[in-house]
Amino acid sequence: MSVLVWIEQSNNGPVPNSFEVLGKAKEIATAMGVKTVAAVVGGDAAIAETVRAYGPDTVLTLTSPALASYRLSGYVAALRKAVEAAGATVVLMAATVRGREIAATLASQLDAGYAPDAVDLRVEGGKLIAVRSIYSNNILADVTFSSPVQVVSVRPRSFPMPEPGAASGEVKAVDPGLSESDIKEKVVDVKSTDTGEVSLTDASIIVSGGRGVAQDPAKGFELVTQLANVLGAAVGASRAAVDAGYIPYKHQVGQTGKTVKPDLYIAAGISGAIQHLAGMGGSKLIVAINKDAEAPIFEKANYGIVGDLYQVLPALTAEFKKRLGK
Ligand SMILES: Cc1cc2nc3c(=O)[nH]c(=O)nc-3n(C[C@H](O)[C@H](O)[C@H](O)COP(=O)(O)OP(=O)(O)OC[C@H]3O[C@@H](n4cnc5c(N)ncnc54)[C@H](O)[C@@H]3O)c2cc1C
Repeated sequence: MSVLVWIEQSNNGPVPNSFEVLGKAKEIATAMGVKTVAAVVGGDAAIAETVRAYGPDTVLTLTSPALASYRLSGYVAALRKAVEAAGATVVLMAATVRGREIAATLASQLDAGYAPDAVDLRVEGGKLIAVRSIYSNNILADVTFSSPVQVVSVRPRSFPMPEPGAASGEVKAVDPGLSESDIKEKVVDVKSTDTGEVSLTDASIIVSGGRGVAQDPAKGFELVTQLANVLGAAVGASRAAVDAGYIPYKHQVGQTGKTVKPDLYIAAGISGAIQHLAGMGGSKLIVAINKDAEAPIFEKANYGIVGDLYQVLPALTAEFKKRLGK
């Protein structure tokens, strides 16, 4: 028996959210008295060495020309082999776009219980409990399983990023037994939208803008971006700003956008609706800039600046530039 974690890969290597899950998986496996296994599917099998440093007992590598690029049916088939090879009873992965579809498909093929987008995991009486957040974090639901295999996708940033250490686990190659004809999808073309921006979910600092920029949205988000650039931060937004077309959806933070947990979240011209707080309420330090002293965001913020964002943002940017020597 084991707890198996799928290590997702992007063009930049392993996705850090996978290591957050791996860190928690070790805790879960210890509580269950079983081993931790990490599965590296396709892509660059050399990352097994990087994965080892995060302390799984075993790293399984499953490589094949058919797995060179991500396709759902191929990756699920390979992970089924990994589950079998590891004798896994618990399968965990980060609830990224790929993680969500893989976890759901894998669970249905294994006839396994599935808890999507869990925000916490624990073991009670030897059994796994997945905690799911519903109604914008107003209710935390404990999910238990009656199936022999349990699949959980974990909301990114639910657990801290572990520190890599001395690697002691073994690396084992598992033949995925796949050929091109087993795979149902063909990738016709890949167009990268990577602009080199800091990714929201990985960022330790985020500067977000909301409908408060309505007076001059282009200028408002330029000011948000200038502050973000000085701080090495990612740019976020409220849904109102996204719906109004001020900024693309990929920047949206909140219940129907991304969940973030940066060390510092600066919200400019954002009122603090419950659906926005659902996505950023776990930030370590929240700074709100709003011209309305009664805005609900100030109840959540550690520091509040009552003022016009068109004046406050450039002042902050200039001050940070000076202090950071930029
Ligand atoms: C099912 C559902 C899902 C949702 N999901 C999300 C989600 O994922 N993310 C999300 O953000 N919202 C979400 N919403 C929408 C949410 O309810 C709010 O409507 C939205 O968050 C409001 O965005 P805002 O704070 O930018 O705008 P507003 O609420 O309009 O607030 C704008 C703020 O800017 C301030 N302001 C105005 N001018 C200035 C200025 N010059 N300087 C400084 N401050 C200024 C105002 O005082 C005000 O507080 C969802 C709603 C529903 C129903």
